[in-house]
Amino acid sequence: MGRPRTYVTDAIVLSRFDLGEADRVLTLITPRDGKLKAIAKGVRRPTSRIGGSLEPFAELRVALARGRTFDVVTQVTVGHAWLALRDSLESAATAWYLAELADRSLEERHEAEPLYGLLHRAYELLDAGMAPGRVARWYEMHLADELGVRPEVDRCVECDRMLEATEAFRWVPTLGGVLCGRHPGPPASVAGLSVEALRLLKAYQRLDVEALAGLRLAPSVEAEVETALRDFVRVALERESRSLAFLDEVRAGHPV
Ligand SMILES: [Zn+2]
Repeated sequence: MGRPRTYVTDAIVLSRFDLGEADRVLTLITPRDGKLKAIAKGVRRPTSRIGGSLEPFAELRVALARGRTFDVVTQVTVGHAWLALRDSLESAATAWYLAELADRSLEERHEAEPLYGLLHRAYELLDAGMAPGRVARWYEMHLADELGVRPEVDRCVECDRMLEATEAFRWVPTLGGVLCGRHPGPPASVAGLSVEALRLLKAYQRLDVEALAGLRLAPSVEAEVETALRDFVRVALERESRSLAFLDEVRAGHPV
């Protein structure tokens, strides 16, 4: 017996593009089937029954028919709309960034339950009003875990010595984490990491999100950790993120 011709799954839209007169191709993340591309036919017509439901930043329940190139969307209902997430441009831009990271982390048609759960939780947190930067850092740290590249924040990546708060160290994503002061030489361009930033990186690894949301932090330390984790994830995914540029412009107050 072959696979059933139709199936139903939870899904979140990661990206989409228009095709032809009225169709749209969606990249979906699903728990069991991982990332997949599906075509929604005629959804850009005002009369479409499903067009309005196929939005990003929502958990959808999607019925699909297997097709030759793309599976075909036959029915959609909205499970969680996470409407408050769209109220702020920064949280919406962050949601795009997180979706793009998930997209680039996944091969098509590989089981993706942990990453699906991570994105789902991040969207819930954005919707609940948690600071987008903290949601993004929490997500990046856990995404690195899922990619099998948990950042080293306790021991030196070179000599394996436990780091002490009194010494100088550097953050070297290409080496997988923190490098202690005993290793001169390249990469000389890498900036030092403050002990406060190191402490916050550890917090992102260890604390639950409720505790992270409540931390009182100096903006300079948050900025340092933002750079550190973005760099880390960029190295892990080996490619610059397109949506980060957009997010930066939004936060600089110059929405494109
Ligand atoms: Zn060392």
